[in-house]
Formats: sequence, C-alpha cells, structure tokens
Amino acid sequence: MGEVLVLVDHVDGAVRKPTLELLTLARRIGDPVAVFLGTGVDTAAPVLAEYGAVKVLAADAAEFADYLVVPKVDALQAAAASVQPVAVLVPSSAEGKEVAARLALRLNSGIITDATDVEPGDDGPVATQAVFAASFTTKSRITTGVPVITVKPNSAAPEAAPAAGTVEQLAVSFGELATGTKVLTRTPRESTGRPELTEAAIVVSGGRGVNGAENFHIIEALADSLGAAVGASRAAVDAGWYPHTNQVGQTGKSVSPQLYVANGISGAIQHRAGMQTSKTIVAVNKDAEAPIFDLVDYGVVGDLFQVVPQLTEVITARKG
Ligand SMILES: Cc1cc2nc3c(=O)[nH]c(=O)nc-3n(C[C@H](O)[C@H](O)[C@H](O)COP(=O)(O)OP(=O)(O)OC[C@H]3O[C@@H](n4cnc5c(N)ncnc54)[C@H](O)[C@@H]3O)c2cc1C
Repeated sequence: MGEVLVLVDHVDGAVRKPTLELLTLARRIGDPVAVFLGTGVDTAAPVLAEYGAVKVLAADAAEFADYLVVPKVDALQAAAASVQPVAVLVPSSAEGKEVAARLALRLNSGIITDATDVEPGDDGPVATQAVFAASFTTKSRITTGVPVITVKPNSAAPEAAPAAGTVEQLAVSFGELATGTKVLTRTPRESTGRPELTEAAIVVSGGRGVNGAENFHIIEALADSLGAAVGASRAAVDAGWYPHTNQVGQTGKSVSPQLYVANGISGAIQHRAGMQTSKTIVAVNKDAEAPIFDLVDYGVVGDLFQVVPQLTEVITARKG
C-alpha cells in the first residue's frame, strides 16, 4: 500500500477531530502520513501516531500564521514531492478546500470536495458525495494525477490504531505567491462553550417555529443537555433571532452530525442541503404535513414549546 497524505487541522498543536477522522479513513486506502504545519508538533505527534500516522512531516515557519493559504499549499506540495502519495486528504473547511484546490492545480490532479466517505477501489480511492442539495449520492474516482479529496467533518468515527508517528522535518521553500495576502489582525470568537457547528456530533436547530430570539434559549437548553452545537434555519437567521454563523443549509453551513434535531423547521430543500447527510434526523413540528417529516428517522408532531423542554428535562434527568 502507498502512503496517504493527511493535512492536519490543529490549534497550536491541539489536533481537531476531523483530522482523526481523516486518519481513520486514510488507513483504508494506504499508510497515513500526517502533514503538520505550524507550532506544537510535540503535542500533536503522539495523537497523530495513536490514530495511525506512520510518519509526521512537520514544518514550522512564520509564513503559516502570517499569510493566508498559499504557504500551506507550498508545504503540502513539498510533502507530495517527498512521499509520492496515492492520495491527499484534507479537511473540508473553507480553508481546507482552498488549499486542496490550489494543490490539485499544481499537481495537475483531479479533486473531489466535500466527500462523506472514502473507500479503496481497484483503480484508486472512491469518494462518496451528496450532491444537488443532497438529493443524490454519487461515488467518484479521480482519473488524473494524485487524487486530492476533501472530506466533511463527521464522515467517520475516529478509531485509534497506534503507529510509529515518526516526526520528520519537511523542507519547504515558499514561492512568490506565499506572501501575497498578509493576516493583519486576529480576533478570537467569543466562546459559547458549545462545539463548533460543522464538527459537532450532535446539532440541535431552531427555525421560524421558535418564534423569536427570546425563545432560542429553549433550543440552547436542549443542545446543552446533549452537548450539542446550535443551528438555525435561514428564516430564523434572517429574522435576526440567531447569528448567521449558525445558519444550516445551502447558503449557510453544511453539517453531517450523528444526530440532527430540527425544531420548528419545515424542511425546505435549501435547509435540507445542509443537513441531509446527518446520520439520524429527528424533527419536532406541529404540522404533520411538514416536508421535514419525509426525511426524519424520528418525528414528533407537536408544539415545540411543550415538547422541547420536556425532552431537555428527560435527558438531563437520565444523565444525572
Ligand atoms: C437561494 C436560497 C438559499 C437559501 N438558503 C437557505 C439556507 O442555507 N438555510 C435555510 O434554512 N434556508 C435557506 N433558504 C430558505 C428556505 O427556502 C426556507 O425559506 C427556510 O429554510 C425556512 O425556514 P424554516 O423552516 O425555519 O421556516 P418555515 O418554512 O416557515 O417553517 C417553520 C416551521 O415551523 C413549524 N412550527 C411553527 N410553530 C411551531 C411550534 N410552536 N412548534 C413546532 N413547530 C412549529 C411550522 O409548522 C413550519 O413547518 C434559502 C432560500 C433560497 C431561495
């Protein structure tokens, strides 16, 4: 089996869960080689090894933090040149997709974005995608160059499979474009204490049925009882009840959690586009004819103001 490059998503060496998922998927198609850029490799390397990285290619330079995207592309290209990988897997974040696209262009390779699964195939890895607002599932294989695939968070359950994880320094020479766009300031987002929406294993969302910003605490309470992230439909966001950063759907974020709970959301195609690949879908809606019920695993026809607090109470009591 050949080696599979996995671009590590981390914060100062704290490896984020989507990377562990990528390592788990990478093991199906080859030997994972993690590419770690920036500071904190000493913290990250044991974790990457635990999840199957046979090798960690590490590079640290001010360029990774000070400039947008291109330095990472330079580094990933250097890693691809040193390893001759059978595939490159990148987390499907906005930055990851830009890095992957630029890398594919440089390698003269095909690219698949937003895959929800990656399997071995006779002629190279086969990626699953949900397309056309998730109304179709496709399986595709890249026919040109080294397959570059971005994978959505929550596409696989991370499984430990200890490997050597030997750290090797990666020599990177930055091209002219690397310093094209400089980062001037950074403002950390205020933490809600809840998981990041696109990475959360459980998402609890509210729609127009929540009927006001002042009622969203009902949704937040259910989310907190489950350790979930909070999402919102565009109707709720447009009404100013919840921030745009929490919008789920075609023009919002795409989520694929283990459990998605839609409250007071009708299930418009544009909303479904952002959550239809969730593993288990639950909806609470007072209209039995609401289209969301066509795709749920469990549906409750009822008033969310009665159902959701009761659900929160039961979950909290069971946990206690
Ligand atoms: C180009 C384009 C892009 C779009 N992008 C997005 C997107 O990214 N995300 C997105 O969500 N939408 C998007 N939309 C909008 C989308 O078409 C719908 O208008 C929107 O999703 C509706 O939100 P909703 O389900 O909250 O509201 P509604 O469709 O009004 O549904 C509200 C639901 O709440 C139920 N309800 C009301 N009161 C209660 C109660 N007390 N208890 C239980 N149930 C109750 C009702 O029965 C109803 O089913 C987009 C539209 C366009 C044209």
